Amino acid sequence: MGGIFGVVSKNDCVMDLYFGTDYHSHLGTSRGGMAVWSGRSFSRSIHNIENVQFRSKFEVDLSSMSGNMGIGCISDNEPQPLLVRSHLGHYAITTVGRINNLDELVDHCLKSNLMHFLEMTRGEINPTEVVSALIDRESTIKDGILRVQETIDGSCSLLVLTNNGIYAARDRLGRTPLVIGKKEGAYCVSFESCAFANLGYSMHYELGPGEIVLITPDGIEQLNPPGNKMKICSFLWVYFGYPSSTYEGVNVEIMRNRNGAIMARNDKVDVDYVAGIPDSGVAHAIGYSNEAKIPYVRPFIKYTPTWSRSFIPQTQEMRNLIAKMKLMPIVDLINGKKILFCDDSIVRGTQMKETVQFLYSHNAKEVHIRSACPPLLFNCKYHNFSRSKSEMELITRRAIQFLEGDSNAHLDEYCDHRTERYCRMVEYIGKQLNFTTLKYQTLPDMLDAIGLPHENLCTYCWNGLE
Ligand code: SF4
Repeated sequence: MGGIFGVVSKNDCVMDLYFGTDYHSHLGTSRGGMAVWSGRSFSRSIHNIENVQFRSKFEVDLSSMSGNMGIGCISDNEPQPLLVRSHLGHYAITTVGRINNLDELVDHCLKSNLMHFLEMTRGEINPTEVVSALIDRESTIKDGILRVQETIDGSCSLLVLTNNGIYAARDRLGRTPLVIGKKEGAYCVSFESCAFANLGYSMHYELGPGEIVLITPDGIEQLNPPGNKMKICSFLWVYFGYPSSTYEGVNVEIMRNRNGAIMARNDKVDVDYVAGIPDSGVAHAIGYSNEAKIPYVRPFIKYTPTWSRSFIPQTQEMRNLIAKMKLMPIVDLINGKKILFCDDSIVRGTQMKETVQFLYSHNAKEVHIRSACPPLLFNCKYHNFSRSKSEMELITRRAIQFLEGDSNAHLDEYCDHRTERYCRMVEYIGKQLNFTTLKYQTLPDMLDAIGLPHENLCTYCWNGLE
């Protein structure tokens, strides 16, 4: 997925930029980057953060960076921010989102003969470079950003750092958030509002869908008003987002507590304990436990001294191994117990299967699983959060393949928790993964737990509706 952060200050901004960008580390695992405008030129640093924390990589760069304005990113894919010199002047740019028609846009730009793109490894073109090329086709940065929002299929929120200030633009339908924080003498702009408190910022303004602003040390100028239609990502609350963040006025932790409580109200199960799969299952489980009045315990503790960040390796085999190694069991809380676990979601099911096998190998009597969101039936088209190449990696599609002989059959019924087909799919998955019982949160209840008008929320990965 990835995250972006920027600062405009009357004082040096580098430390705020460093920590503010670092507070997006849970959103990406590939590259980190920072660019600062010194008043005369840019300094920029990009590092591979696949196996290392952002802070330890960038600490060495801090002494060589100074300036009042800067942007940073955690990227799940391409190196960023990019430095650009064009007819629009010098600028640095960072983006977050996903461009589905990248090849088409590249071909379109190359037809002008005066363009070229640098290839990354494996011949891929850097999507942020394509965004900058689209911006450069217009006579102002604002018009360039509007062109980006009109022409890309997917979503793209971005920051452009110039000598005049930072242009901040939220994607056309607001799938990703972008919020402005304020403190004496400075503004920051951030994907995650959890970056504000420890840096002394308070929430100032949340950009609407497609809105563009220019942030300078003296204030914020609106360049393009927000659109009427919004489709903010619901998965931000269920899984991606940091618990201390708030999007559209709804805090992540509080939504998860509320979601768990709704699941408990619609459930009836006799267990000794409720537990959460760390990290994002925990707040759903606390909500469940409080509502059901069943004690909350931690049969697994994450080994944080060395597994402190959400590292996502490239291969499934390695992902499974790491998922296992970073969770340490407390066997006394497992032996002979009936436990209900809440997890944020079930994607492929492989990690969950291993976890449950492990629980039985330590004499768990019953293992009941509750997924905080409905069955995932479609890969996300708007964020790069999933590396799955095919929907057949989703356990739901494999179940449908088994039940129907065609993984695409009757998807409208499999999306609907009131149908027989849905119930058969859930039963099949529960048996495959060896759960005592399995229940998924329903889509209407999950959306109610968020509390925004349902039509303002993206639900594509659960029901395929755009
Ligand atoms: S498809 Fe799912 S993960 Fe992607 S933006 Fe929509 S709700 Fe979020």
